[in-house]
Amino acid sequence: MISQIHPIPAFRDNYIWTLIGDDGANACVVDPGDPAPVREFLDSRGLALSDILITHHHHDHTGGLVDLIGRYQPRVYGPAGIAGVAETLGEGSRVAVLGVEFSVFEVPGHTLDHIAYFHDGSAHEGPLLFCGDTLFAAGCGRLFEGSPAQMLASLRKVSALPPATAVYCTHEYTLANLAFAVAADPDNPTLRSRVESEEEKREQGRPTLPSTLDLELATNPFLRCGEAALAASATKRLGRPVTDETEVFAAIRKWKDQF
Ligand SMILES: [Zn+2]
Repeated sequence: MISQIHPIPAFRDNYIWTLIGDDGANACVVDPGDPAPVREFLDSRGLALSDILITHHHHDHTGGLVDLIGRYQPRVYGPAGIAGVAETLGEGSRVAVLGVEFSVFEVPGHTLDHIAYFHDGSAHEGPLLFCGDTLFAAGCGRLFEGSPAQMLASLRKVSALPPATAVYCTHEYTLANLAFAVAADPDNPTLRSRVESEEEKREQGRPTLPSTLDLELATNPFLRCGEAALAASATKRLGRPVTDETEVFAAIRKWKDQF
């Protein structure tokens, strides 16, 4: 069982999600880009680091591996090709950390090696997803390696999970993402009320994460490319009719890159 999931802030806007087992003695971190705040957190609470989950190869997700492995000797799970990952995972893999089982999805797009970890909720309050830089609150990762079609297929996999799934993204990009979402999907009332509630959290110094999948399905433009409103925005942006969902996604993603 998981007793707590805690965000350790790192760099400018990363969160290193830390799962604490119900034994109160062991922890698992997801994507430890920086070892220092992780060590400080674990040592101040007397926690052992039993496991590390990695979503993709970017340095702000893996930079703490060597240090943390040397100090705590955790089991390290992640995609193939990353130094320090001892057990490589792919589509359909299952992995148990702190006695909690996660299933693994390949979600290429941001990078080609990107994977996500899903737990069905049987050992927690509800289902949860660690999705790295694939899905963000009101946004999605930049396409550094994959194509729009690959990313859209990955986001569809995520969209098919239970709507109550808590979504643990790696970056606090929410307000900037929402500013773009409002531009891309201007007549969405749920989106407008979301802006207020997320701004309030930031004003109080609280993370906007985790999000929930149902909120993302209602407000995230990258999960809504099949909607007429987003097709209309893509059409306006490109100055020609766009109806194909992949083309809508590509246009919206490119617009966000320049926003
Ligand atoms: Zn990344």
